[in-house]
Amino acid sequence: MEYQAKELFAKHDVPGAPGIVANTPAEARAAAEKLGVVVVKAQVQAGGRGKAGGVKLAKTPDEAEAHAEAILGMDIKGLTVKRVLIAPAATIEEEYYFSFLLDRANRQYLCIASIEGGVEIEEVAKTNPDAVKKIAIDPGTGVDEEKARAIVVEAGFPEALTDQAVETVLALWKVFVEEDATLVEVNPLARLAGDKLEALDGKVSLDENAEFRQPDHVAFEDKDATDPLEAKAKEKGLNYVKLDGAVGIIGNGAGLVMSTLDVVAYAGEAHGGVKPANFLDIGGGANAKVMADGLDVILGDEQVKSVFVNVFGGITACDEVANGIKGALEILGDAATKPLVVRLDGNNVEKGRAILDEMNHPLVTQVDTMDGAADKAAELAND
Ligand code: GDP
Ligand code: MN
Repeated sequence: MEYQAKELFAKHDVPGAPGIVANTPAEARAAAEKLGVVVVKAQVQAGGRGKAGGVKLAKTPDEAEAHAEAILGMDIKGLTVKRVLIAPAATIEEEYYFSFLLDRANRQYLCIASIEGGVEIEEVAKTNPDAVKKIAIDPGTGVDEEKARAIVVEAGFPEALTDQAVETVLALWKVFVEEDATLVEVNPLARLAGDKLEALDGKVSLDENAEFRQPDHVAFEDKDATDPLEAKAKEKGLNYVKLDGAVGIIGNGAGLVMSTLDVVAYAGEAHGGVKPANFLDIGGGANAKVMADGLDVILGDEQVKSVFVNVFGGITACDEVANGIKGALEILGDAATKPLVVRLDGNNVEKGRAILDEMNHPLVTQVDTMDGAADKAAELAND
C-alpha cells in the first residue's frame, strides 16, 4: 500500500512526505490539525484510487474528517478501505511517471518513465506510446550515477530538475535493490511549486522469495486481505492457494498439481460442474506430518466435499507416501470427515497400494489412474 511504500521511500531518502495513517475520521481530523491542508487518500492494494473518488483534498480538519468518513468503508475494485493516508497537500505543477520493474521475458530490469504521468498514464501509453520511455537495465551493472543521468535525459525531465531527478532515480533504485522489490512505481512523481521533485504516490511489490533476508517485510503483510486458510498453510510451511471449488487437491510437484487441477475441472463437467478447491504442492517429503498438515488445511475448507491425493512417487517412494497418508489419518482421527481418493503411481507403487489396501480405511478409495481418480473425486464432491 501507498503508506507502506512511502515508509520504504523515506528509509532510502526518496523525497516526499510519508504522511500520517488514520483508521477513523477522528484520527484523520487530528492528522490534518498537525499537517494543515491535506489530501485524504484511500489505502488499498489497487491503483486508480483517484478516479474512484478515493483521493480528496481537504482544506480544514473538518473537511479531512468528512472525507475520511466518506472514504473509509468505500469499495475500490472489490477492496474495502480500512485506513486512509493523510498527506500534506502539495501544489502540483507537473506530474511524471516513474518505475523500476523486473522484466522477466528479457531477463533484465526495466525502467519506465514518462513526463506525462498522472492518473491518465494508461491512456497516454495507448494513445501516445512515444511519451512513455522504456529503458533497459543490465542486472549486472544496475543503476549508477551515469546510468541515472542517462535515464533522466531519455525520460525528458526538465533541466531545472535534472540533479534532483538523478538523486531520486538513485534513491528509487536503492529501494528496488535493497528491499528485494520486483516493482517500484511512483505516479505521480511531481514537480511542485519552487521546482521541487517529490514522490506523491508509491507502489512497491516485494519478492517473497527474499523473505528470509528481509525480516522487516512481514510487517507489510495485509492480514485482512490474506485468506485464513492460506495463512494457516503458510504457518505450516505449505505451498497452498485457496480456490473456489469442492474437490480438495494434494499432490507432489507444482507441475503435477497444476495438471491435477485441470483434470479435476474437466472431470467435474460430468458431475454438476464441480471444481478444484485449492492448489497444494507438498513437494518431495510426503511424510505423515506434511500429509496431516495438508489434509488439516484442506478439511478446514468448508467448501471441500472430497479430497484427491495425487502422488507420483519419485525420490519419495509410494510406500512412504502411503505410510504418510496412514499416519495422517491416525493423527487427524475424527477430524478426518471427508472421502479421500488416492492415486499412487511411480516408485514402489505396488507396496504403496498394498499399505492402503491393508489399512482398509472407510474414507479412502484408491484409483489407479489420474483421470479415473479425478472422476471419482468429482463424483464424491457432487453427492
Ligand atoms: P492513484 O489514483 O491510486 O494512483 O492515487 P494518487 O496518489 O496517484 O492520486 C491521484 C491524483 O491525486 C494524483 O495524480 C494527483 O493529481 C492527486 N494528488 C495526490 N496527492 C496529491 C497532493 O498531495 N496534492 C494535490 N494537489 N494533489 C494530489
Ligand atoms: Mn498514482
